[in-house]
Amino acid sequence: MLRRYLHLTLLAVLLSACGSTALPSQPILVQPPTATLTPSITPPPPTATPIPTSTATPVPKSRRVLIVSFDGLRPDAIAAANMVNVMSLMQSGAYTLTAQTIMPTLTLPAHSSMLVGTCPAKHIVRWNEYVPENGFAQGIDLFDIAQAAGLRTVMVVGKEKLRQVTEPTSTDYFAFVDKTDKIDDEFAIVQLAIQQLAEGFDLMFVHFPNGDLEGHDSGWMSVAQLRTYANDDESLGFILESLRKRDMFNDTLIIITSDHGGHDSTHGTDLPEDMTIPWIVSGPGVIPMPISTQVHTMDTAATAAFSLGLPIPPEWDGVPVYEVFGMPIIPSEGC
Ligand SMILES: [Zn+2]
Repeated sequence: MLRRYLHLTLLAVLLSACGSTALPSQPILVQPPTATLTPSITPPPPTATPIPTSTATPVPKSRRVLIVSFDGLRPDAIAAANMVNVMSLMQSGAYTLTAQTIMPTLTLPAHSSMLVGTCPAKHIVRWNEYVPENGFAQGIDLFDIAQAAGLRTVMVVGKEKLRQVTEPTSTDYFAFVDKTDKIDDEFAIVQLAIQQLAEGFDLMFVHFPNGDLEGHDSGWMSVAQLRTYANDDESLGFILESLRKRDMFNDTLIIITSDHGGHDSTHGTDLPEDMTIPWIVSGPGVIPMPISTQVHTMDTAATAAFSLGLPIPPEWDGVPVYEVFGMPIIPSEGC
């Protein structure tokens, strides 16, 4: 008690001392403390995200975020494969078909940047196999901050190496569907995703691997690859339908993207065909429009965090795509 009293007295002395040195001739010493106190009193949410300007734009919070990555999906494959569900989200949401991934344009490094929010120089994942000895992507990732806020985090992926994007302790549920497990069930991933959806989630990442695998077998933009993406799009349709049925669609922010594109039957280079990815966002607060700012894959983590009202780690290279919420743009620099 006494200590507390001393604290208060000390604080009062300090405040008046600060005031008097800062404004020696001004008698209005009362104002600085009130001015500093007001902002912390007015915004009631405890996890208030940093808003770039002092304008009173309300934060467009979503109840949950779903991120879907179609492995190897080039933006021009969306129309070519007639991905009707992806296109419906483009209509209801904001989109760019010229977003950029990182170098190397490989699955594990690129998904790390997408979900950790940083360039490879920070998360250090440049390998592209499942190498458990290498551990996990470095730094605080999207799942870390979501879980720290008590949110339920889910990952359903089609490549085991994606386990290395975030530590097992940061995902409440993680499922990897092995190619060899596929048996004749190409809808294994979507079934798991829908199960998790039924259990309730706050952050879910769903990864469809087959377009990439078919690209390596038959070539990027081949008929066979496009057919695979059409199937994946059908799976997305089931997820959207399930969200709607459970009355979860309207308060879910959905981001559709990919890790890299491809050319011939490969990827990994800095060719535009490999670097350019689609980035589509639909959900609470999103204004339907083509996005004019340059989006980078790290902005996925940042936009998801922003929409969930989570604090964005200062070291992240990604920036929320504020434009889609009608807020002032902060350019995203890339790597
Ligand atoms: Zn990939």
